[in-house]
Parts: sequence; structure tokens; C-alpha cells
Amino acid sequence: MREMILCKLGEVVLKGLNRRSFEDKLIGNLRRRTAKCGSFRIYSKQSTIYVEPVNDESDLAAAYAACKQVFGVIAVSRALPCEKDVQAIIRTAKDYLAPEFARARDFKVESKRADKTFPLTSIQLSQQVGGALHQAFPRCAVNVHDPELTVFIEVRDDAAYVHGPAEDGAGGLPIGMGGTAVSLLSGGIDSPVASYMMAKRGVSLEMVHFFSPPYTSDAAREKVLELAQLLTPWCGRLTVHIVPFTEIQEQIRLNCPEDHFTLIMRRFMMRLAQRVADEVRAKALVTGECLGQVASQTMEALRVSEDVVDLPVLRPLIGMDKEEIIRISRKIGTFDTSILPYEDCCTVFTPRHPKTKPHVEEVRELEAVLDIDALCERAMAGRERVRIKL
Ligand code: ATP
Ligand code: MG
Repeated sequence: MREMILCKLGEVVLKGLNRRSFEDKLIGNLRRRTAKCGSFRIYSKQSTIYVEPVNDESDLAAAYAACKQVFGVIAVSRALPCEKDVQAIIRTAKDYLAPEFARARDFKVESKRADKTFPLTSIQLSQQVGGALHQAFPRCAVNVHDPELTVFIEVRDDAAYVHGPAEDGAGGLPIGMGGTAVSLLSGGIDSPVASYMMAKRGVSLEMVHFFSPPYTSDAAREKVLELAQLLTPWCGRLTVHIVPFTEIQEQIRLNCPEDHFTLIMRRFMMRLAQRVADEVRAKALVTGECLGQVASQTMEALRVSEDVVDLPVLRPLIGMDKEEIIRISRKIGTFDTSILPYEDCCTVFTPRHPKTKPHVEEVRELEAVLDIDALCERAMAGRERVRIKL
């Protein structure tokens, strides 16, 4: 029998009547994410999803790494199935977990018996296997309260499974269960983290990125696509809508007061993001805004920017410090790309003294000189869709 992966379900198990659809979604997501690692049989039983390689060509290590990044899974471990016989279980545990026994100071055995026809109770099985393992590894003491190593044994219908230490999974909810949102993805540190955080709550994302050639370079555009690619192990495959923003920025610069430049620009971003959202039937927008981080992220400024949309604007970083955001950015693997020094459209034409306490009515008046609809139409018409595969 082949080594396999066990994924423990997280909050999915709290979903009562919806649980079935959560599990189905999660299994579908696991199938897609492990597809490039080989062929696997994936099914669920009793709050656990089994990921079994169907041949020796499948790359279990790669599949294990992929499963750790699938939202909805709270813990993952590798397991080795064996015959449902105490001696076979002992032999399997001894060989399979020898490296863990070499490291641990103490251990215990925890058994579960889903197959009630198995001749030993869970306690008897734990005692027998524990005794035999202690004999085999006498330097590893038995400690039933707080051991370094817990050996899990599950006796199920088709086999017994021996598994060692579990690792944390990604947590959260399966992508797709929380609906779809459009995430405004810049090349910075914050917006990839904001995207990751909403994906973790089960939201499937479409990305929109505004670029302003020739003020922003091809390298800046590539950087954003690279960030989207780095997010796929967490978010799944993505579409990035790349929207040209040069004309809008130039028109604002020519016609509106400098201290309101960023605010009016952000209103255009929100309008365009909402257009994309309507088109893909997304129900919310996501930004990497964080209270007080920059002039355009005061409460007054946030009010001004969301004034032009009616979808909820989700800002998962709103109460976080930069340090916390950076920590997540490093953990999810986007930090090194985010800090590459390419200009974003937000950094061209930045006002010297941006307005930090703007008034909605005043901003509406100031931008009324622009042909807002026509500018948005043209920007949408120049949009390019880039599909980012897993
Ligand atoms: P980030 O690190 O995500 O760039 P930031 O702290 O630099 O954020 P801003 O530049 O004010 O803040 O942008 C605030 C939010 O607006 C970003 O987090 C992102 O969601 C969105 N945004 C900014 N620039 C762009 C862009 N060029 N394309 C798409 N969204 C953008
Ligand atoms: Mg930015």
C-alpha cells in the first residue's frame, strides 16, 4: 500500500447542513491543486479528506506541499496504510516513524477505530502498539499527557492507517464558498496580502490592475503578473484585468487641483473595479488599504473613494501594522517580488501636499469637469485580460 496524505477539515465541519457542499468544493479544489503532481484518488470520510496516489509516478511530496496551501484544510499529515492486523500495524509504525522516534524524547499512541469489528478496542490497540514501540525505541519514553510525538492509528473499513506528526494547513474556508470579489492588485506589499486574506475566507478572486504607460514600465506590469502567479497556490487560478490608466491620470492632472489628485484617481480606480465586478458578477471589491498608512487612507479619504461604488469594499488590512502585513507577505511568498523597485501608477504625479481630510461634495464638484463616463468607457475598452494558471 502506498503512502498518502490526510487533510483535516477546519471550519468546514461547523457548517451543519451546508457541510456537504463545503466538502465537495474542498475536494474539487484539492483535485485541481494536486493535478500537476500526478494522479490521486481524493475522497472524504469522517472530517478527513484522503489524498491517495494511484501510481508510483505521483509526487507525494509536491502534493503534500500543495495541500498545505489549500484553504479549508486545518492540518495535514502523511500516513501509511497497512493491513488491519496488530502486528502489521506495529511493523508499519516502527519502520515508517523511525526518523520521528530518533528525534522525540517521549511519545504516546492514539488510536481510533471506525471499523467496530476490529477485535481490539482503541485503548487496547494503543496499549499494545505503544508497548511494542517502546521496546523498539527504548530511549523514547511513554508520556500520555504532553508527548513530543503522537503516533496516530486509525482502523477504517479498507485499511489501518499509521500517521505521524500533523502540520498546520492553510485554515480558512474553501475558495468559492464565499462568492467572488474583484481585488485591486498593485505591485506593492499590501494588496497581495489583502487578496490572500480574502481568499482565505473562501472568496474567489479576479484581479484588476491599473497601469500607466509610458509612466509605468513593462517591468512594473510583469511584476504584477508575477505577484498574481505567486498567489495562485493560495487563491487558485486567476484572471488579471489590466486596465490602461494613463489618459485618466493625465486628464486629472490637467483639470483638477493638485492636492486632490490622488483622491480623484482613487475614485476612478473604484469605478473601474466596479465595472469589472459587475461584468464577472463579483459581489465586493478588495483593497490593501490600511487606516492611516498614507494620506489617501484616512477615514475621510476612504469615504471619498468608496462614494462612487455601491458594492461593499473589503479592506482586510484596515487595522494592521505594516510589520504584521510584511510578516504575512513573507509567509505567503510575495514579499521579495513586492519590494522590486518598479513604479506604480500611484507614484506618478503624486501631489506634494495631498488632502487628508477631503469632503465628498467638494471632490464631486472638482471632478465634474471631467467626462467621467467617457474616460471609464475608453479605459475599459483598452483592457487586457491575462489568465494566470496554477
Ligand atoms: P499596496 O502596497 O497594495 O500598493 P499602498 O499602501 O501602496 O498599497 P496605495 O498605493 O494608496 O497604497 O493603494 C491602496 C490600494 O489601492 C492598494 O492596496 C490596492 O488595492 C489599490 N491600488 C493601488 N494602486 C493600484 C494599481 N495600480 N492597480 C490596482 N490597484 C491599485
Ligand atoms: Mg501602492
